[in-house]
Amino acid sequence: VAVRDGAILAAGSAAEVAAAHPDLPETDLGAAILMPGLVDAHCHLEWSLTGGLVPPGPFAPWVAGLLGLRGRMTAEDHRVAAAYGARRCLAAGTTMLADSGPTGAGARAMAEAGLRGAVHLEAFGAPEGAEADAAAAALAERIAALDAEAGPRVAIGVSPHAPYTVGPGLWAALAARPDLADRPWASHLAESPAESRLLDSGDGPLAELFARMGFTPGRWPGPDGAGPATRLAAAGALRRGLVVAHAVQLDAGDPALLAEAGVAVAHCPVSNAYLRTGRAPLAALRADGVIVALGTDSPGSGGTYDLRAEARAAALVHADAPEGPPSAQELVRMATLGGAEALGLEGAIGSLEPGKRADLLVLRPDPGGAGGDPHLAALDPAAAVDAVLVDGEPLLWRGEPVRGGDERLDARAREVRARLC
Ligand SMILES: [Zn+2]
Repeated sequence: VAVRDGAILAAGSAAEVAAAHPDLPETDLGAAILMPGLVDAHCHLEWSLTGGLVPPGPFAPWVAGLLGLRGRMTAEDHRVAAAYGARRCLAAGTTMLADSGPTGAGARAMAEAGLRGAVHLEAFGAPEGAEADAAAAALAERIAALDAEAGPRVAIGVSPHAPYTVGPGLWAALAARPDLADRPWASHLAESPAESRLLDSGDGPLAELFARMGFTPGRWPGPDGAGPATRLAAAGALRRGLVVAHAVQLDAGDPALLAEAGVAVAHCPVSNAYLRTGRAPLAALRADGVIVALGTDSPGSGGTYDLRAEARAAALVHADAPEGPPSAQELVRMATLGGAEALGLEGAIGSLEPGKRADLLVLRPDPGGAGGDPHLAALDPAAAVDAVLVDGEPLLWRGEPVRGGDERLDARAREVRARLC
């Protein structure tokens, strides 16, 4: 790959590229896999220190457990967790990630780590009318304030958290704001059976949890039995560029609805297994033309910020699907260009093509895993992350972080974690 001013000038065989650009200094990476940086289409940096603290199991008790941990975290804890999470993403070979969180601490975390990213500030609540407009205005103000922390590689977006936590009034009020229209949008959709039940009949474990908390859940009109995606589509809440995480509990016609609306899906197989939500209809989504990317969600639901681990999990989860599992090549694509497409950045990142940004991942393949299918070799857990570059800037080199401050961050992360345990 030939790189100048952070952009890819050429990609091809080493001899050809070197011959075409004799003016550029040369770095020989040796026996390596050089590929586009990984694009994590859905994760939560602010929950980086919650791994294993809420046991695997059904969705509603897990939500209660995570909210309990959140109640014990200070604003500074969120900042420490986000910084720690960003460093784990970098160590796993991610160059671009979509973070969702309640405080937006990911903005500074990613800017300091040098990562490319989008931070989706989460909205919660089911107000209607003027109250919904006021809540949307307040969120827009917080989003605008985060712009100052974001730096040139990070965009600040909006996330109505999920249909069961955000009602149609607030969702519509957010969508109606011109200052939020062109920002990245993300949500959680059709994740658990408890979500479908709450939206459909207003009862069940999530409804009971929210009643105990005194929180008014979102309710979306629709015919009896209609799933969350069908209800959002009917309300006009699906918008082009929206990235929804999970999309497990889909009605038969939902993939087509999502495709038509221009909604992309972040598939999170590890989280879905952890929370017993079921298997996303990956083949149906892709067959209907939905852009499907991969997301690591958070350590709170079993994720490791390692998109290659998520790809391997997808291969296992879909191993006995009627259409067969996605191939290693398809999974690598989902983890790179698929993520870029989901986030609307396919013109800038996601593949090694002239004109795109030089967001690069260098893997050091295990001798036992190299020499065959290069995509399989790239997904081999024994292939170590050797270097990560964003805009051609090395952020990780020979396995070591280039930007400093790591030891102090470790100590602070340990301290927050000890308090949460
Ligand atoms: Zn999530």
